[in-house]
Amino acid sequence: MSGALRTSAPPSPMVVNPYGVLERKRSGEALDEVEIRAAVQGAADGSWSDAQLGAFLMATAIRGLQPAETNRLTVAMLESGEQWDLSSEIAGLTDKHSTGGVGDKVSLVLSPLLAACHIPVVMLTGRGLGHTGGTADKLEIIPGLDLRLDRRRCLQLLEQVQVAVGVATSEIAPADRRLYALRDQTATVDSLPLITASILSKKLATGAAALVFDVKTGSGAILAEIEDARELARMLVDTCGALGRKATALITDMSQPLGNWVGHAAEVRETLDCLADAGPPELMGVVYALAEELAAMAGSSAGRADFEEAIASGRAREAFDRWIVAQGGDTGWLADPELALAPHEVVLEAPRDGVLAAVETRKLGLLLAEAGGGRSRASREIDPGISLEYRSRLGLSVQAGDELARLYIRRSDERLEDEFRTCFRVEEAGQAPRLIRERIPPGHPL
Ligand code: URA
Repeated sequence: MSGALRTSAPPSPMVVNPYGVLERKRSGEALDEVEIRAAVQGAADGSWSDAQLGAFLMATAIRGLQPAETNRLTVAMLESGEQWDLSSEIAGLTDKHSTGGVGDKVSLVLSPLLAACHIPVVMLTGRGLGHTGGTADKLEIIPGLDLRLDRRRCLQLLEQVQVAVGVATSEIAPADRRLYALRDQTATVDSLPLITASILSKKLATGAAALVFDVKTGSGAILAEIEDARELARMLVDTCGALGRKATALITDMSQPLGNWVGHAAEVRETLDCLADAGPPELMGVVYALAEELAAMAGSSAGRADFEEAIASGRAREAFDRWIVAQGGDTGWLADPELALAPHEVVLEAPRDGVLAAVETRKLGLLLAEAGGGRSRASREIDPGISLEYRSRLGLSVQAGDELARLYIRRSDERLEDEFRTCFRVEEAGQAPRLIRERIPPGHPL
């Protein structure tokens, strides 16, 4: 549907022999559009076997893709499913994507904040897996909230409340679903061009005109090293640019949990704190920076002062309530949110005097998942009360016995509690990380 991405009919992949494509990619040659479309169609219609697709993914992960190949793969995966082209009906439509982390509830605050400043926002979000939490799982704490969105419903919500947040339907980028599952089995999850095509095939499907990527770096990020985060951010921004979409990226810190709480119910409560102008400064710093990026790209005159005013005046909280109610959320719950924490509290103390120098944030997320507060498998239920209250910050001086964090779990478990203790390192010296490490502007379209 989106005319921006393709002006002619796609070449037919019918005559392509998978063996030849695999041979060429294995020897490091660049694949043309017909070959890439053949692989993607093979994923979507089942005509390529798991073995052939696994080999395609492995050869791609080892040999890499040239920028033009990444563009082709993204477009082919995008065109394997529905494209909603919502920007043709909603001017200045925005979207934000985070590569995920621990305590990342930015989308929950950012979406109503943008709406309160008349900037429409659509997000098809994912579920949490491994150490990261998912926006969809957090929103589902709210009784009645319906995250199933199709194009018609999305438009309705955008016209009514300027926000639509949901989970990708099976009609969006079906090729990605099969390829993503195979990447998980073939050690090709961390290939940057494969990540880029996977994220964008879903993000571009709604047709938002302006996108911002929050690419996390540090111990709790999928890409811990700044060089990898920078490369992914550049690839996401450039691929969007090449495909006619405005995009920028911020590389933001994930070397400790974002905000004061990790855990599904607790993060919804922290969202309400943020909307009541009582949010942690680090979290609000990321929210405001992303809002400014989107406002500029969407042609809105809203700036930092307007966003701060929307929070301070309560307009962003009103926009949150309107949005949640429009998506079926219970108004009674909103007035009196029931956000019970798991009952067994464990205080995690500083073992010595010094400075909080490092947090093993990824391990913290995995341990919370193991305690029931996340998913190690896609089918697993989440316990929304399992939480961690983060009571220190990197670079702060502490004394032996000071409370660094407090854990809320269902029952005592000495081994697990000791594992949590190993996630915090107190040393002679340590530094507070910079929150926004880098901005990746548009500027290298292909
Ligand atoms: N999110 C996606 O949708 N795909 C990836 O490959 C990584 C994160």
